[in-house]
Amino acid sequence: MTEAFGRVLVTGGAGYIGSHVVHALLERSARVVVLDDLSTGAREAVAEGAILEVGNAGDRAFAVAVLRRHRCQAVLHFAGFIVNSESVRDPLAYYANNAGATRTLLEACVEAGVGTFVYSSSAAVYGAPDRVPVDEDAPLAPLAPYGRSKLAAEWMVRDTARAHGLNVAVLRYFNVAGADPAGRAGQVSRNATHLIKIACQAALGLRGGVEIFGDGYDTPDGTCVRDYIHVSDLADAHLAALEHLGAGGESLTLNCGYGHGASVREVLAAVERASGRKLDVRVGPCRPGDAPMLIADTRRIRKALKWRPRLDDLDAIVTSALGWERRLVEAAARS
Ligand code: UDP
Repeated sequence: MTEAFGRVLVTGGAGYIGSHVVHALLERSARVVVLDDLSTGAREAVAEGAILEVGNAGDRAFAVAVLRRHRCQAVLHFAGFIVNSESVRDPLAYYANNAGATRTLLEACVEAGVGTFVYSSSAAVYGAPDRVPVDEDAPLAPLAPYGRSKLAAEWMVRDTARAHGLNVAVLRYFNVAGADPAGRAGQVSRNATHLIKIACQAALGLRGGVEIFGDGYDTPDGTCVRDYIHVSDLADAHLAALEHLGAGGESLTLNCGYGHGASVREVLAAVERASGRKLDVRVGPCRPGDAPMLIADTRRIRKALKWRPRLDDLDAIVTSALGWERRLVEAAARS
């Protein structure tokens, strides 16, 4: 098992999803090097047992040096910008950091002889799909520069794989949420915009309330529906992808979600249940670039990787997210 993983470089390993995957890899005795510039991630989020190299994933010379020094065989590329609305205001930053840096990192991988590459893509590449659940062969029509920057990177990953003989997995994340049930990791970035984080902060009195971005959508209760996946299940999907590629499996593009969704109102109700507090909710205008409904067709990942979620439950997701936010509050009070 350990041999299948070998030495793994995790870019963005100090960030939300990357830090969970690092824990999961270490639990399976992999040797892990984190490459992170700590721009949105946190040094404390890097698990003990992983080596931290501080730098940018798009710095080719640095990436080659790190890959060679640690003789990495596989790269998991999480580092990137993730805020949709910010990408509308500053598209070039998103193209540089998500597409440009991926291009450079791929070049470094080819130069250093890395054989396996796992790319963090997003359901944003689908835009607003005509049909849900959406499968991997659906038309790709991202609504904002964020999704377009991820899609551009996907193309580069697959083209590089074909030309240079890399084995790659492109994982399209739906709405990643929750925190490590053991409390070792969670959403670290200070100004996260994600619904569950915002609602948990409101439940803990850190914000006045929660604004619903539109309730006139063509959905069961008028609010947007998303496929929320627990970050620990997503971490398992990465390990399964690495195992698959390490065993000589073919390159893959896979949705990562549960195959069913929850509306904004259902999420807020779950946060109220978990916290025992009534949230101050008001309905505001729609947020530009929001798809009404995004739900993954998960048949391919279940078949190809034999991946089975362990935490497919909105209450479990929200409870773990709330627990993490509570720990952050307690830690801030101590410091
Ligand atoms: N949302 C909301 N209020 C907020 C944050 C998010 O109503 O303060 C909605 C948003 O419009 C979307 C859903 O919650 O329909 C999930 O948004 P999030 O930003 O968490 O993830 P996204 O789906 O944009 O990747």
